[in-house]
Amino acid sequence: DSPSEKIQSPPPNLIGWGLLWSLLLEHKLRLGFSILALAGATTCTLSMPIFSGRFFEVLIGASPEPLWRLLSKIGVLYALEPIFTVVFVVNMNTVWEKVMSTIRAQIFARVLIQKAEFFDRYKVGELSGLLTSDLGSLKGVVSENISRDRGFRALSEARHSILSESSWDNMHIIYYSSPACANYGSTDAYAVYKRSTVPVFKAHGMAQASMSDCVTETFSAIRTVRSFGGEKRQMSMFGSQVLAYQKSGIKLGTFKSLNESLTRVAIYISLLTLYCLGGSKVKAGELSVGIVASFIGYTFTLTFAVQGLVNTFGDLRGTFAAVERINSVLSGTEIDESLAYGLEREIQQKVHDENLKLFLFDGLNGKNQYTNMHYMSALKSASNVCSVAWSADVCLEDVHFAYPLRPDVEVLNGLNLMLKHGTVTALVGQSGAGKSTIVQLMARFYEPTRGRITVGGEDVRTFDKSEWARVVSIVNQDPVLFSVSVGENIAYGLPDEKVSKDDIIKAAKAANAHEFIISLPQGYDTLVGERGGLLSGGQRQRVAIARALLKNAPILILDEATSALDAVSERLVQDALNHLMKGRTTLVIAHRLSTVQNAHQIALCSDGRIAELGTHFELLARKGQYASLVGTQRLAFE
Ligand code: ADP
Repeated sequence: DSPSEKIQSPPPNLIGWGLLWSLLLEHKLRLGFSILALAGATTCTLSMPIFSGRFFEVLIGASPEPLWRLLSKIGVLYALEPIFTVVFVVNMNTVWEKVMSTIRAQIFARVLIQKAEFFDRYKVGELSGLLTSDLGSLKGVVSENISRDRGFRALSEARHSILSESSWDNMHIIYYSSPACANYGSTDAYAVYKRSTVPVFKAHGMAQASMSDCVTETFSAIRTVRSFGGEKRQMSMFGSQVLAYQKSGIKLGTFKSLNESLTRVAIYISLLTLYCLGGSKVKAGELSVGIVASFIGYTFTLTFAVQGLVNTFGDLRGTFAAVERINSVLSGTEIDESLAYGLEREIQQKVHDENLKLFLFDGLNGKNQYTNMHYMSALKSASNVCSVAWSADVCLEDVHFAYPLRPDVEVLNGLNLMLKHGTVTALVGQSGAGKSTIVQLMARFYEPTRGRITVGGEDVRTFDKSEWARVVSIVNQDPVLFSVSVGENIAYGLPDEKVSKDDIIKAAKAANAHEFIISLPQGYDTLVGERGGLLSGGQRQRVAIARALLKNAPILILDEATSALDAVSERLVQDALNHLMKGRTTLVIAHRLSTVQNAHQIALCSDGRIAELGTHFELLARKGQYASLVGTQRLAFE
């Protein structure tokens, strides 16, 4: 079987009840604990009417039980209920936050291992929306309603409205005079709570923002991530942000539930006061039992009637829509199995890394979240591709290719090209001829539809992609940097344990970048901003060259800059590039006459094939397309 053949059938919906269930089961203990607490809270709530019944019996003299004893029992009941509720809510919320983190991480990973056409189809904004706002609404529906915060506010509002409609002045007096625990009291407590939780809310919001930045950065730079085998690093980064978000979510949930319980305590104290005052007034003959009973009855009926049900249903509808969106984007898409296999293996080796643990759960797609055994067995051991590639030629053999989204347009049709090891090949041709497409195929961002690319005679598809990422370096004219420090950018994609500070500096020196880096405010630790925006174009290029030098891949692909740089930067960059090319099998998309002239061979790409091949002078002598291209571009070249 050729590994490129589709083996996996489209998976069922990514997010569904089955997934939720299996994720919840990962937290059995906490879940059990919180169910017990819920049972406790419910028992308390359900016994309340029994006790009110007894209360009235005492009031009308039908029961010999002393009033104070009964009231203290009711007090205990009222105290226990909020405690049980806090235990229930905090645990439930924690479980839910953890479940959401896993789902989030899994979806991130799932997007990360998609085939290239996925990224042609979906915009970064959409993906970011899926992972943050859509998942956010899934999270919200449960956490908001677990805490029943809303339900209780609805209750106190209802209470308030009943009271203001009531013509019974006495009860009004009781209500408003209940010290610090009447409805307004709890509203005030809520306001204070809100002020004290502002930092918690803020931290939560910021954690969400940095999570979404990470998504945006990863998927807008997906080609760079892939060409450096940076998937694991991005996962780890996303993982740490998900964990931070989870932590702030748990904290927020705890705050919310404490608040909710405080509100309950306030309501209960107010009720208890009503019992006491109402009771004593009945005893003194000032009020009839009926009025007190109906008032308390009202309160309770409303408590349960308005528990935010309407809101809950509204939320649920939004959530189902969000889940559907996630499913429609990600269910049934093809994942890049070669990439997934390598990643899974790497992650398995890093089980002690908290940030990566989130990615280990494989419930999203049954047992085959990442891999397909059948496929894996088709892969060769790839450990020595890198060393082989230093001394082997790279061949594009009868390569045909059409972009998956435009399958009827053959961009390459039967292209043949040999890159002799250690030599420089300049690729020239009109714009739209397919030069960048060749680069993308060599980087294995896409695979040829027919034909093959070989290294030392081996089809590159037999190597898994994370290995391949070590074999090929790509330096673009507009390189993507990540919003970490300069040093981390240079070391991007390499395992931390293998890179020393000295190596980074050595690479930077060779890339003519050391000088400007040490003049930055924090030297190598200076953050470069989103997409490296704090550096100039020439500086970014030199950092990218240092990155490629450090990676030390045997095959190098350069997308040469047209002429965006000033003369000094240009010379520094060119110098660094010459250094980088030494000894590597290099393919340059050439724009400069100097590069073309110095290349060992020039390949002219036209109509999806190599139309002319030879040295600069051979091709000039041929007086073909190359000669006329040089003729028209000579002025620009010079
Ligand atoms: P060059 O680099 O020589 O200018 P390209 O390789 O970028 O040419 O493009 C070759 C052809 O492929 C062009 O017709 C272009 O429109 C098309 N093409 C490039 N990228 C994509 C893509 N992601 N999806 C569909 N078509 C594409």
